[in-house]
Amino acid sequence: MRLRFAPSPTGQLHVGNARTALFNWLLARGGGGTFVLRIEDTDVERSTTASADAILSDLRWLGLDWDEGPDVGGPHGPYRQSERLEIYAAHARRLMEAGEAYYCFCSPEQLETARRRALIEGRPAGYPGTCRSIGAREAEERRAAGERPAIRFRVPEGREIVFHDLVRGAIRFETAVIGDPVLIRSDGHPAYNFAVVVDDALMGITHVVRGEDHISNTPRQLLLYEALGLKPPRFAHLALVMGPDHTPLSKRHGATSVAEFRRRGYLPEALVNYLALLGWSPGDDEELLPIGELARRFRIEAVGHSAGVFDEGKLAWVNRHYLKAADPARIAGLAVAHFREQGIPMAPDAAGLAFLTQAMAMATGSVDRLDQIPRRLGFLFGWDPGAALAQPAVREVVEAPGAREVIAALAGALAGEPRLDRERFRAVAAHVRQQTGRKASALFHPIRVALMGEAEGPELDLAVPAIDAGAELTAADGLPPIVGCRERARTFAEAMSNEH
Ligand code: GLU
Repeated sequence: MRLRFAPSPTGQLHVGNARTALFNWLLARGGGGTFVLRIEDTDVERSTTASADAILSDLRWLGLDWDEGPDVGGPHGPYRQSERLEIYAAHARRLMEAGEAYYCFCSPEQLETARRRALIEGRPAGYPGTCRSIGAREAEERRAAGERPAIRFRVPEGREIVFHDLVRGAIRFETAVIGDPVLIRSDGHPAYNFAVVVDDALMGITHVVRGEDHISNTPRQLLLYEALGLKPPRFAHLALVMGPDHTPLSKRHGATSVAEFRRRGYLPEALVNYLALLGWSPGDDEELLPIGELARRFRIEAVGHSAGVFDEGKLAWVNRHYLKAADPARIAGLAVAHFREQGIPMAPDAAGLAFLTQAMAMATGSVDRLDQIPRRLGFLFGWDPGAALAQPAVREVVEAPGAREVIAALAGALAGEPRLDRERFRAVAAHVRQQTGRKASALFHPIRVALMGEAEGPELDLAVPAIDAGAELTAADGLPPIVGCRERARTFAEAMSNEH
């Protein structure tokens, strides 16, 4: 099996296209096939190398590696269409010589007028065949006089084209509704329908898996295979990914590109797993499976006729699973960029990263995305008792009966204490309980606000030792300074007494 993903580098990689790439990859990897990447950059006006580079890097980020492609080469290259213009020209000449193609001298304005007229008269808006009957002699004269024609394919009349789509079953088209497609534009660049056929054939592609927006192109492509005497691949057209209003997912709905989801703090393995579930099921009610297992189970025939709605809530649920499962050192490394973006500057060294790695246990079980980690762990960095006391939730805690006594006792108990680990913290809490007679939430809520500056957040048993471990770090470790528990309790108690 030889499969390919053939993006047009005219923008960001859309999650729907990423899903197409994934399904091709799953088929190739699950069946010992080859996965080819081809850049379809013949639309000179809209294609950019920046977009091609970004698509490659998004695919790599997702873990969808390819066996042949523009960067790695391969036996059927080049893999950028802009480097294959000679190949298309040669194939177009063959069709011209066989009488299957002809020069078209129509200007864009003429074509537009014809299209409008057809629409008004309720006829198919395809090419009306104006230049079909221009003889070879006249065509040569006009070319010699400087006109630059396009080359069009002569669609045979009165035929029915039937193909068996691996997802959608038998699909039929009458050639009467297919206007003669352009093969080579007047600027010498091939049109999509022509380049794709030449390339898929020369690259030995056995299965074309792509979005269903290309279904109506398929009969044209089948006619071209026939005219060129080439064997067509099998086709599978995937339903488009929808937005909540059941129209194709677009910018109107919010984030649509792989890059945006990456920036929002989704892990690649989560996005891959979620995209695989759109319109396909691994079976046995299992949903959370690593990419290798998805590849082992994937069957193109089992892909549904509808991809369904892109549900970011479900993606977040999948992401939460992978955040918990991931190596905390990796998550810590990924979180750094999000801390920085959210105003907590850092450039941790090995000790700084080791500290963050430890701290991940307080975050990964409770967030959906990497970008929520800074907020969850923000209590570690930056200590401002005045600002804490201004929060309504903190006020509520400190104004509860007995809270002031607990906080004063805590500050006193910590005054002579070394840095807290979990055991020492428990001993301190027991001491404060004895001294004040407060227990459970009447004890721990005031302790929490006095040490964390927040009424909610990770367990004290984890947060307190983390604060004091952080207080031991030095500036060289590359994290913002972390104020220890002793200083926190003292300054919090002071700030409270200053209020009166
Ligand atoms: N370049 C086309 C696209 O991005 C590829 C279509 C195909 O797979 O044939 O839509």
